[in-house]
Amino acid sequence: MSDLLTKDIKYLNGVGPKRAELFNNELNIFTIKDLLYHFPYKYIDRSQIHKINTIKADMPYVQLKGEILNIEMAGGKTKKRLVAEFTDGTGVVELVWFQGIKWINDRLKINKKYIVFGKPSVFNNRINIAHPEIEEEEKNEVKIKSSLQALYPTTEKLKANFINSKVISKLLTNVFLMLNDEIEETLPEYLLKKLNLLSITESLKNIHFPADNNSLKKAQYRLKFEELFDIQLDLLYKKFARQKKFSGFKFEVIDDYFNNFYKQNLQFELTDAQKRVIKEIRKDMGSGKQMNRLLQGDVGSGKTLVALMSMLIALDNGYQACLMAPTEILANQHYNTILNFLKGLNVEVRLLTGSTKKNERKFLFNDLEEGKIQILIGTHALIEENVKFNKLGLVIIDEQHKFGVAQRAKLWTKSIPLPHILVMTATPIPRTLAMTLYGDLDISVIDQLPPGRKPIKTMHFFDSHRLYLFGFLKKMIEEGRQVYIVYPLIKESEKMDYKNLEDGIESISRAFPPPKYAISVVHGQMKNEDKEISMKYFIEGKTQIMVATTVIEVGVDIPNASVMVIESAERFGLSQLHQLRGRVGRGSEQSYCILMTSDKLTSDARIRIDTMIKTNDGFEIAETDLQLRGPGDIEGTQQSGIPFDLKIANLAKDGHIVQFSRDIANEILSNDPKLHHPDNALLLKKVLSDKKALSWSFIS
Ligand code: ADP
Ligand code: MG
Repeated sequence: MSDLLTKDIKYLNGVGPKRAELFNNELNIFTIKDLLYHFPYKYIDRSQIHKINTIKADMPYVQLKGEILNIEMAGGKTKKRLVAEFTDGTGVVELVWFQGIKWINDRLKINKKYIVFGKPSVFNNRINIAHPEIEEEEKNEVKIKSSLQALYPTTEKLKANFINSKVISKLLTNVFLMLNDEIEETLPEYLLKKLNLLSITESLKNIHFPADNNSLKKAQYRLKFEELFDIQLDLLYKKFARQKKFSGFKFEVIDDYFNNFYKQNLQFELTDAQKRVIKEIRKDMGSGKQMNRLLQGDVGSGKTLVALMSMLIALDNGYQACLMAPTEILANQHYNTILNFLKGLNVEVRLLTGSTKKNERKFLFNDLEEGKIQILIGTHALIEENVKFNKLGLVIIDEQHKFGVAQRAKLWTKSIPLPHILVMTATPIPRTLAMTLYGDLDISVIDQLPPGRKPIKTMHFFDSHRLYLFGFLKKMIEEGRQVYIVYPLIKESEKMDYKNLEDGIESISRAFPPPKYAISVVHGQMKNEDKEISMKYFIEGKTQIMVATTVIEVGVDIPNASVMVIESAERFGLSQLHQLRGRVGRGSEQSYCILMTSDKLTSDARIRIDTMIKTNDGFEIAETDLQLRGPGDIEGTQQSGIPFDLKIANLAKDGHIVQFSRDIANEILSNDPKLHHPDNALLLKKVLSDKKALSWSFIS
């Protein structure tokens, strides 16, 4: 049976080499199995017959039963069309063909009952249906019984070669004939029973030819479950295997470095979330297994401190630690912060970036190899070939999504056994997505900000209330605050009707004239020196208003700037709005984020604005973003990409199945980590087939 499934598609009845090539190129379908797993994108209910006097042009499709009154050729010599008047007694519609006219004309008969199916539209004030499906009623009877008809994704090229949804459906009929309704089961019997799942044969039959709505739902559930389960099984199987194979450094003690820092240098209480996360990390690193942990926490939640304290545990156990940041600015910032935190504690901390001088490098490399350097902070430079540690026990990667997979892969070659790994990110990823993307990592979350921060107040103004906005800004500036005004565009655009920075500066300069007010400008088309000078003035408080594009998204930290105005806010995605808002709220004053929009908003834009007003919680925002946009567009996954292709499950909508399938996979592997039990033979086959999700911790 499995032989049949792996057979080349060209051998399927009705395909042949030419169509096979189209299937290969257009839909990535090479085998019979690929075709079986080419799922419909929707179903239409063919049990319903519409009355002609009830149809409207905005209906997606209608099905009619009736007969043809007359047929005629219309149009000139070059633009011929065939028009048939069709009635069911309640009214008349025109059926129109522009192509294949002769063939149709030869076959249509007056006074015969037909079933007609198609999309209604309006032409010359009359309703017509262009290129309908039309079949004699007797021949159609079987189909009407199986009422849900599958529609398949196709491409323009396929359609041009007459491979449409109906043809795919016909080919699938041939597949089922050929397979004799027997498809080898892919999940263990006990699992099907326990979870009350349809067999694979029934599922595939019903996904293509649903017996009824209920069978379709059950088929969809089984296939979604299996798709997500396969990913989780794969990830967790590798995780179990890795933990068995590689022991990790066992950091057993907490000693002077950690304790002295905690008692003498730490100026504030850790938040409960920080305490919890440090405990999780400590437990991991003390377990004798190698840690692979993702730490998620919103901007300002205090991840750096957690990173530092984790590194001090490594030091207490006689190991070195390193902290890697995606940019030089951030590496510098970490370096200074950490030096400051560690004042008087006699810890050897060094910085290595692209700007580190050659001469200095030589000494640094030497000290590192001899173990004199305890904490090394830097950029990608850290993972260059010639950087050799003496005893590297912990690697921390900040803002992980900005690191490419290949760069992370290099880290592994640094030390054997593998060091503990902590990956930190300020881009909250919704749980179900994280579970799938980073499913073999353990996840810690800092879901709390340090005390004393006032939550940012977010407001929404329509452009028509701009005077009111300017009044508010003047008041804030009078109180000594500084203001950001961010534009989506630099120049006016013909294509997009959004506010632009150039026009903005003009009206802002008029409303905020010198010498009382001064304005800084920063955008992507400026020279770096000019940008820096402009930034510097704002940081020093010489200018009160910073007009910018989204270049200010990352790396800026100016506590006195407490108002963020986002122009044409409807133009931005949720995570971008949240990132921009994160530029303010860093000082002790009340901060504001003001979203300016045009008066007309799409419903999605409305949801985004409302979400921003309602919550400051990055995770809630990420979750909403996932619902609105789907997983492929979520910030933080674009660069890394989603390393697998889901055919039926949807990470945004099927979150509960992600969790459930993970629990099931975990349960199975806890009892049988190598899947050696005969009952799990099919599962072992799955994980060994290795076409599944990439394992992040193996490649990273
Ligand atoms: P993140 O890297 O998560 O964006 P940081 O680690 O830079 O956040 O922390 C933001 C600021 O909050 C820093 O100035 C840090 O010193 C401070 N901070 C961290 N933890 C606490 C705490 N528990 N209480 C008060 N301030 C804290
Ligand atoms: Mg940080």
